[in-house]
Amino acid sequence: MEKMKRTATCGSLRASDENKTIILNGWVHRNRDHGGIHFINLRDRYGETQIVVDEDVPAELAELAGSLKFEYCVAIEGVVRKRPDAMINPDMPTGEIEVSVKKIEVLNTCLTLPFMIEDETDSNETARLKYRYLDLRSKGMQERIILRSKVTHAARDFLQRTGFLEIETPTLIKSTPEGARDFLVPSRLHAGKFFALPQSPQLYKQLLMVSGFDKYFQVARCYRDEDARGDRQLEFTQVDLEMSFVSRDDVLTVTEGIMANVFKETMGVELQTPFERLSYDDAMNLYGSDKPDLRFEMAFQDFAPFVPGSDFSVFKSVLESDGVVKAMVVPGAAAAYSRKKITELEDTAKTYGARGLAWMKVTAEGLDGGVSKFFGDQADAIKSGLGANDGDLILLMAADWKTACTSLGAVRSRLGKDLDLIDESVFRFCWIVDFPLFEYNEDEQAWEPAHHMFSMPQDQYLDTFESDPGPVKGDLYDLVLNGYELASGSIRVHDPELQQKIFNVVGFPKEQAEERFGYLLESFRYGAPPHGGLAFGLDRLVMILAGKSSIKEVIPFPKNSAGMSPMDESPALVDEPQLNDLHLQVVMPEED
Ligand code: ASP
Repeated sequence: MEKMKRTATCGSLRASDENKTIILNGWVHRNRDHGGIHFINLRDRYGETQIVVDEDVPAELAELAGSLKFEYCVAIEGVVRKRPDAMINPDMPTGEIEVSVKKIEVLNTCLTLPFMIEDETDSNETARLKYRYLDLRSKGMQERIILRSKVTHAARDFLQRTGFLEIETPTLIKSTPEGARDFLVPSRLHAGKFFALPQSPQLYKQLLMVSGFDKYFQVARCYRDEDARGDRQLEFTQVDLEMSFVSRDDVLTVTEGIMANVFKETMGVELQTPFERLSYDDAMNLYGSDKPDLRFEMAFQDFAPFVPGSDFSVFKSVLESDGVVKAMVVPGAAAAYSRKKITELEDTAKTYGARGLAWMKVTAEGLDGGVSKFFGDQADAIKSGLGANDGDLILLMAADWKTACTSLGAVRSRLGKDLDLIDESVFRFCWIVDFPLFEYNEDEQAWEPAHHMFSMPQDQYLDTFESDPGPVKGDLYDLVLNGYELASGSIRVHDPELQQKIFNVVGFPKEQAEERFGYLLESFRYGAPPHGGLAFGLDRLVMILAGKSSIKEVIPFPKNSAGMSPMDESPALVDEPQLNDLHLQVVMPEED
C-alpha cells in the first residue's frame, strides 16, 4: 500500500492540477470501453473522478483496466489533464479534468453486487439492510451520514461554546420511565437481577444538576422496547440537555441557539429566532394537533355562533352536550372537491373518532350543497365571519373538543398534502407550550403523566393538582418543525414532597416510588437546585434536513420494521452455556 497511497481524493482534482502526477484510491463506479479506450469512474466519499486508459498504453495495463468490475477497490497512478471542451461535465466538481492512467493496482476485488451502487438505491429494504455496508456507499447515504456528522458537530460546538459540559451517563441502569417498555440486561454476577437500558438519561441528568454541573449535555443513545409502529427504532439518538437555576425561556433560548447554529453550519440557512410560540390549547383549537405543520395556514374557526340561528339538530345537540362545532375554510377547493372526494376526507376524520364531516360550498349567490340548506339565510354572515370567498369549501366538524380538534386536524394535514400547500423548502419551527401535565387513560381508568413524571405543574395549579388533575398545565414544551415533534422537555420538580405528590396522582404509591426512584427522591433532600431541560431527536432532525421521511435513511445501521437487523441477524438465539451463566431459561411462546 505504501507506494500506491493516495495523494488526492476522487473529489479534489481541478483544472489547476493539470500535469500533476497523482495517486487515487477508491472504488470502480463505472467502467466503459469505448473502442479500446477505457473510461473508469473512480469513487470515494469525496466524489468521482474520470480515469482514462488511453489506446496506446501497454497491453497489460489495458487488460487490467478491462478486468475491473463494479466496486473493485483500486489504486491508480496517473497524470491530470484537462478534458477536451466538448467533454467537460459541469455537473461534476471534477468535470473539467480526467486522469490519464499510468498504473493500476487492484487492492481488492468485489463479488457480483446484490444491487447497483446508485446515487439513491431503489432496491428493497431487506437487501439494503442486509448489505448495509454496500448501501452506505451510495451517494445519497454518504451525503446523509456526512450531514449527520455535521449536525452533531454544530450542536456540540454551540453547546460547548456556551458553557455546557458533555457528560456521559451510564447505559446499564435501573430504569428510567419514559412511558415505554425497558430493554433488560441480565446480570451474570447477580443471579436473577437485571439492568435496564436507559429510555433516556433523564434521571442521571437530573442527578448531575444535584451535583452542581449546571449546564450538561450528551449525545445520548436511548432504548425503548416498543412494538414496530410507524418510523420508530428500538434505539435512537437524542441530544439531551439540562440546566440549573433556569426558567422555561432559558431552555428555549439555548435550544433556538443550537438550531440556528445547526441550520447555519449545515444548510447555510439563517433561522429567525425566537421561534413562534403556541399554547397547547391554541395549537389544538387552531390546527387540531400538538405538532401542527405551519407551512400552510387553514386554521380552524368557531362555528358555534351560527348554530342557534339554524335548525340543524345534529350541531345543536353537540353544543348542548358541551361539544364544539369547528369550521375550516379550504380556499378555492369547492370545484375540485366532489361529494366522493369529500367522503374520502370524512373517512380520514372518522379514523380519529369523528362521526362525520359536514360541508358546504361558497358560491357568488350564497352557500351550496351539503348542510347549506340549514344555513342559507345566514350565508352573508357566515361568509364574512369565516372570511370565506366564492369557490371556497367549508368543512364543519361537530364533536367533543378533543375529537373535533384531532379529526379536523387530520383532515387539514391530508389537505395540505393533497392540495400541494406545502413549500418543501421552508423550515417552520414553533414551540408548543403550556401542555396538560396529566392525561387520563380511559383503558386503565387512571391519570398518566403527559410527558414524564418529573415535570413541574405551573404555579397556579400547585394547590389543586392533586384533587383536580385534568385542567393542570405543566411547565412543558415541545419544539415542532414542519409538523414533526422534534424536541420535548420541561422544568422539573426538585422538591421531594412535591415529587411524591405527583407520583401519587399518577398512581405510584410511596413504596413503589421509593423502590424505583428512591435515589432521586433522596438526592432532592440534599440541596437539589431548581432545574429543567430538554432533548431533541437527532435522527429526526437530520431526516428533516435531508428531506427524507424515514429515520432509517439517516441511521447508519438501523433495524428493520420488525425490529431486526437482516445483516447480523440480531436478535439471535444464544448458547445454552451463555444462558446458564446468566441464570436464565428460555420458555418459547406456543405457536398459534
Ligand atoms: N427525557 C425526555 C425525553 O427523552 C426529555 C426531557 O424531558 O429532557 O423525551
